[in-house]
Amino acid sequence: MPEYFSYPQISTVRKNSRPLKSPLNFTLERESSGSKARAAIFQTLHGEVKTPIFMPVGTQATVKGQTVESLKATGARVLLVNTYHLLLRPGPEVLKKFGGIHRFMNWDGPVLTDSGGFQIFSLPHSREINEDGARFQSYVDGKFYLLSPESSIEMQKAIGSDIMMALDQCILSTAPYAQAEAAMDLTHRWAERSLRARGDSPQALFGIVQGACHQDLRKKSAAFLRALPFDGLAIGGLAVGETHLQRYEFTGLVTEQLPQNLPRYLMGVGTPIDILESVHRGVDMFDCIIPSQLAQRGVAFTSHGKLQLRRSVHKFSEEPFDAQCDCQTCKQYSRAYVHHLVKSDEILGWHLLGIHNMAFYYRLIREIRKSILQDDFLSYYEKKRIELVRSDEENPARPPKEAKTSRSARLGDYEIHTAARSFYSIRQVSSGEVMHSVNPPSDEANKLYVEQSFLASRLLKREIQADELVIWDVGLGAAANAMAAVRCFERTYAEKGANGLRHLRLVSFEWDLDPLTLATKNPGCFPHLRHGAPFRILETGKWQHTSNLLQWELLKGDFRSAIESANIPDLIFYDPFSSKADPALWNAETFARIFKHCLPKSAELYTYSASTAVRVSLLTAGFFVAEGIGTGPKSDTTIAFTRATGARNHPLSPRLLGREWLARWRRSGSKFPTTLSNEERPHFEELIETHRQFLSDSFAKSS
Ligand SMILES: [Zn+2]
Repeated sequence: MPEYFSYPQISTVRKNSRPLKSPLNFTLERESSGSKARAAIFQTLHGEVKTPIFMPVGTQATVKGQTVESLKATGARVLLVNTYHLLLRPGPEVLKKFGGIHRFMNWDGPVLTDSGGFQIFSLPHSREINEDGARFQSYVDGKFYLLSPESSIEMQKAIGSDIMMALDQCILSTAPYAQAEAAMDLTHRWAERSLRARGDSPQALFGIVQGACHQDLRKKSAAFLRALPFDGLAIGGLAVGETHLQRYEFTGLVTEQLPQNLPRYLMGVGTPIDILESVHRGVDMFDCIIPSQLAQRGVAFTSHGKLQLRRSVHKFSEEPFDAQCDCQTCKQYSRAYVHHLVKSDEILGWHLLGIHNMAFYYRLIREIRKSILQDDFLSYYEKKRIELVRSDEENPARPPKEAKTSRSARLGDYEIHTAARSFYSIRQVSSGEVMHSVNPPSDEANKLYVEQSFLASRLLKREIQADELVIWDVGLGAAANAMAAVRCFERTYAEKGANGLRHLRLVSFEWDLDPLTLATKNPGCFPHLRHGAPFRILETGKWQHTSNLLQWELLKGDFRSAIESANIPDLIFYDPFSSKADPALWNAETFARIFKHCLPKSAELYTYSASTAVRVSLLTAGFFVAEGIGTGPKSDTTIAFTRATGARNHPLSPRLLGREWLARWRRSGSKFPTTLSNEERPHFEELIETHRQFLSDSFAKSS
């Protein structure tokens, strides 16, 4: 008999036939009529838990913006903390020294630890999964770690949680059958290893049902896991890509297959309506970051819908968020005050909203439990499911007009900037310019540079192409564009394998590494940096993909002094600060040097700028200049080609600036660069007027 059966082995796997109580001593109190909703009690090393229960997420051993005291006051009873994050920082040694998380963070209630599987899942390009576990590189210090079923349990023992989770392979819920089946089988083998690794620990251990959105896989997974001596079972792999209806369907399908005498935990779910719907389908436990995440964004849940506290309609309001709420925030503070805090980006606003949102969740959970115990859940459910999907009915939304605010994190001339849409960018303090101000940095990098240049298809080997593709990344900044290219390479590599791919050389130019250093220190704000490569670039100026097919190097210093010595590019992602902040990088002389250096190739330069001055500089430098795609509120960007054929063969058939543009330029107030003397003007004018792009009808017609 395998050594892990220190708990009695269950040989029969018939539904509801589990004969022995788990160490949690799970006791079902009531099942509701006409619904699968249920109320129960179980015991942990740190006290009793009544279900249904909601667990706030304390990612870094803290629920963001809250103290242990404020959390308890809202009704929080069980905390979830993330093994992955605590493994990387502070690390197991610190937790062992403190005898576990409870003393370390001053929390005396039950704690559930996840296994780290989900965080690994969200690092798709910087980890490798095999039978042993997942090898990944730390975003904290760039070191490599192996997260295996055994090392995960070992870490969860060091954390000293009351409930541990077995490591699972989480995949997208929309994954195809074969992939979902392989991940499920691996999860099952890891489940058995996790049980062995638990040994005689008094901490409870839950298994995780996988199988994506495939009914028979979900059933098979539940049947396999309920035959093992777990103390509870979780439904994993939902809330990662499927629709709401699918989520509800599969939740119900899995709970049908789970034993009655074990707690059931739906991981990472959810919104208030998700919780209500899932309780109705027989789930007992939930966790989600939403209450504190929305608090950070200035959103309050109320009995009459969600309030956006940023909106100026609250500026003079003496009302509490919700007259029906008895939380500390509603008792003591007005909407006007919290509106002011949110607008001023004060942490107290986040804290007060967090208290209220958490209290809203716990009130909902208490009402749900009460209605189950009174066998009144079904009518409560019918009423509440309508109430929970309301929006702010007193103040219907108008298109938002929001100011931008900045956070305090700062390095050198740079600081982290929070856009109104709640993503982060880097801002240069002296110029006030924000890198990627309107769209999240990785979105803009993808659209404007990676997708528009068709990088993925250019990486594929074709007969008449050079074996190496060279990209210049001018203005590394916080590496959004470079990482978009790296991820594109990794996706293509995963799909096509090494044989079908060209070699990619990515050359980044940057004179000031403060923006990237600042961003890597705040990886929570910049998901595109959750990868080992940018750390290596900062340390050594070089990074290489394991296949050797991608080499990324940094040329530190002034771009202009490196132009002629760098490998001739095929693609240029031209993204330095604007011509106001850095005029030398946008003048005709610099562009002419780039053009001349690139002439042996048919090269393409992509840039966010669509200004007449920049386009004129590109034209006088010799480039053929076309309109690029719009990104968000920018209706227009620019692509410049060294050869006219480049534009004609481009899959998007971009429109070369034609005679209309020329006519507008002739009338333009900024027709000449300010640096141009009066004597130079006629020559300059002639350069533009006689550019081949405007001479031949065939060029004008490429539009
Ligand atoms: Zn409140």
